[in-house]
Amino acid sequence: MTLRLFDTLTRRLQPVEPLRDQEIRMYTCGPTVYNRVHIGNFRTFLFEDVLRRWLERRFERVVHVMNLTDVDDRIINNARESGHSLDEETAPWIAAFFEDRDTLGIRPAHHYPRATEYVAQMVELIERLEREGAAYRREGSVYFHIPAFPAYGRLSGISADQLIAGASGRVDADDYTKEDVRDFALWKAVAPGQAGWDSPFGRGHPGWHIECSAMSMTLLGESFDIHCGGVDNIFPHHENEIAQSEAATHKQFVRMWVHSEHLRVDGEKMARRTGRFLRVPEVLEQGASAAALRYLLAASTHYRKPLNYSDEPLAASREAVERLVSFRDRLRELQPSGEDEDTELADDAVLTAVRQARTGFDDAMDDDLNLPEAMGAVFASLRDINRVLDGAPSGGEALHAVRSLLDEVDDVLGVFPLVDRERELAGGLDEEEESLLQQRAAARQARDFALSDRLREELARRGIDIDDTPGGQRWKRSA
Ligand code: AMP
Ligand code: ZN
Repeated sequence: MTLRLFDTLTRRLQPVEPLRDQEIRMYTCGPTVYNRVHIGNFRTFLFEDVLRRWLERRFERVVHVMNLTDVDDRIINNARESGHSLDEETAPWIAAFFEDRDTLGIRPAHHYPRATEYVAQMVELIERLEREGAAYRREGSVYFHIPAFPAYGRLSGISADQLIAGASGRVDADDYTKEDVRDFALWKAVAPGQAGWDSPFGRGHPGWHIECSAMSMTLLGESFDIHCGGVDNIFPHHENEIAQSEAATHKQFVRMWVHSEHLRVDGEKMARRTGRFLRVPEVLEQGASAAALRYLLAASTHYRKPLNYSDEPLAASREAVERLVSFRDRLRELQPSGEDEDTELADDAVLTAVRQARTGFDDAMDDDLNLPEAMGAVFASLRDINRVLDGAPSGGEALHAVRSLLDEVDDVLGVFPLVDRERELAGGLDEEEESLLQQRAAARQARDFALSDRLREELARRGIDIDDTPGGQRWKRSA
């Protein structure tokens, strides 16, 4: 089966066929670094990570670019208020972003271009748009002229009339200087003394949209394969990126647009603006493990469905991770048996289950990156395999096949390295204590609370206090 993804522009599943032989070039809109990003942003970044990982399985080479928006009005204002340069203002947020990315096991992009380092390319692109008659200057700013790009609106399906109606409700100062209220800024003039760049249009700073057009085309070429972001990026950001890029190059900008749905809280998009948001360190402080959070955001719900953040799905994700980890632990302890008839039969059953899991996983992933369904296939097979292993010993080949399956699955899911890191950090627990802790997790999963209480007492006798949280059991040495 070939990989198909839902393309926002054509509104249907499309096969992923690289423009260049065996190479996928992908651009994902990165964070605006005026604050620490929240776990809603990370839902999108994790979807992109899973996509990247799966593309790497399907194609020889993937080039992934994620921009960092390190200049916009908010950043400029914050810098002015705190007496910082733009760099000083954004450096801690960029560092925090990379830290959270690593906490969640996201593979680093190959390039993280910063808007402030590509101003020359943006100016060049704006001049090109002027030559094409698609941009005009007004009082030191430059605007894109939407009527010059008749295909405008194809991505979002928003018609020109709707745009005008939408715009009339929020006319801000610069709307009066534009030829058409729909037009958007490519370059924004700044008052003397404010942070900005000198340009042929006067002193100013680039608009947000032009940044992504300039950086993606500089690093990936004028036409590339995949562009991603959250659904809120469709309009106006990506619509404007298409207009700017295609009006300049007269080539198709992007082959495929892939957008992920939002993380919500109480049914509403998680957003910094509303104040109802959580960041990665806060979720971990509340007791969740990084692996459970990664599973929740990446694997519990298909990327095109909204996900509501709450304790319940977080606990379910923790259980899913625990099931995988205890299966892996069990496999580690198993020794291959000698050959006999029972073993042969058991091995056949194990190998069949492994094949089913692999086919189920691959098919679901190829079908619009359906990781929840893919994991469903894996868990169904693990149940079968566990049953076989309970009944009869297995030979080396079967055990090896199961281990490879787990490695392949986690190459995409990416939770084992996070669990291993946590165990390492937890250090200090000896093997026996570690095993008691695991037995207790298993007992709780099996709802055997009597056993779980006995294990808690046993651990307390050894000086280890347990706290049960929605993210799993936490332990600490008693004072
Ligand atoms: P921003 O810094 O606001 O430009 O957002 C960076 C990325 O996070 C974009 O791709 C957004 O679409 C995405 N994003 C923002 N809020 C959410 C949310 N609540 N759920 C999922 N993705 C989001
Ligand atoms: Zn962007």
